[in-house]
Amino acid sequence: MTDRNDILFERARAVIPGGVNSPVRAFKAVGGTPRFVKRAQGAYFWDADDKRYIDYIGSWGPMILGHGHPAVVEAVQKAVLEGFSYGAPTEREIELAEAILALVPSMEMVRLVSSGTEAAMSALRLARGATGRKYIIKFEGCYHGHADALLVKAGSGLATFGNPTSAGVPPEVVQHTLVLEYNNLAQLEEAFALHGHELACLMIEAIAGNMNFVRATPEFARRCRELCTQHGALLVFDEVMTGFRVGLHGAQGVLGITPDLTVLGKVIGGGMPLAAFGGPRAIMEQLAPLGPVYQAGTLSGNPVATACGLATLKEIARPGFYEALGTRTRSLVDGLKSAAAAEGVPFSADSEGGMFGFFLFDELPQNYATVMSTDNKKFNTLFHGLLDRGVYIAPALYEAGFVSAAHSDEDIAATIEAARQIFKTL
Ligand code: PMP
Repeated sequence: MTDRNDILFERARAVIPGGVNSPVRAFKAVGGTPRFVKRAQGAYFWDADDKRYIDYIGSWGPMILGHGHPAVVEAVQKAVLEGFSYGAPTEREIELAEAILALVPSMEMVRLVSSGTEAAMSALRLARGATGRKYIIKFEGCYHGHADALLVKAGSGLATFGNPTSAGVPPEVVQHTLVLEYNNLAQLEEAFALHGHELACLMIEAIAGNMNFVRATPEFARRCRELCTQHGALLVFDEVMTGFRVGLHGAQGVLGITPDLTVLGKVIGGGMPLAAFGGPRAIMEQLAPLGPVYQAGTLSGNPVATACGLATLKEIARPGFYEALGTRTRSLVDGLKSAAAAEGVPFSADSEGGMFGFFLFDELPQNYATVMSTDNKKFNTLFHGLLDRGVYIAPALYEAGFVSAAHSDEDIAATIEAARQIFKTL
């Protein structure tokens, strides 16, 4: 036992599977001991040994304002005093719904839920219910939460149905899920030619953040839209990560594409359990209690979570917010690129708004297989080198990173300097 993180990890493993309540937190891919967080403020958190880290995870995306933003803290404190949960409608839910719809023009109605998994699962059911079809398309490397039908990896060959990614998912449950390679136009065309008439929806992270950071090419995204329209399938943008993160209007705003349904999470809850899905009125009115598609939740629209989300949305909607965040994030990415180039390390990186990714390749990858061909050992050296120097990035090479409004120029410069030292050894 060297430090308190080790002690806590051992204690955690005795009572929680793997010591964590969500797998990637366990540092399984990179080895070593997860840092147990004691508290967080602004761009930093402190671990169980009171060591400070510059936080580029930000709870995997929600903390776009940084930790403990005063206006958000105040809103949450006020809400808590009025009660934690009622299981009855509130005015605040309407305010949050109105705020979301005002910023995402493709949505005419929205329903609030408690997690991204729940939102994506519900959007899928709605797409199937509204179209009366059962087949769906998803892409290898895109993650839409852990609902059975979406937990599918690619099968072999072109346009084949996938295999369950997890034990406990019977193959029958994923037999209507078609898994395609991201950015592969030929596969996309083939899949629609074969199955277009029976497809309920195509679900996509249009800027993917679950295979590090990979953009759908403009042509690929446009073709997804066109083919869905042609074949009567719904285009579902999973913007749990990108919504209010890559820009005020999400990936759909960046790409200029209007999906049928949008799935949101993370930033809209500002760090509280809150997610949502929405789209055109005619589709959303298929949901219970109006329509035949059932969906419900004891804590849905929770008053404390909605207060947190509303306060967060108010801050990010201020003029210039995303310009400043985007500039800050780009300065990180550009600084890392220059440092790597100076040390002769193959490196590429990209960002949009407050989301970024970097790769130990000369060129940006276009799909999951390329991302996963990263030299694991080198990534782990970089990860642990940064961690030792007080910089916390995702403990897996297939995750994106996040910059918040609380990250300062000094934080960015310190991060680039830490990376430079490690690049010298790679
Ligand atoms: N969709 C996307 C794009 C995500 O990134 C995530 C979570 N990282 C989810 C869905 C699932 O969200 P949650 O973890 O809140 O269930």
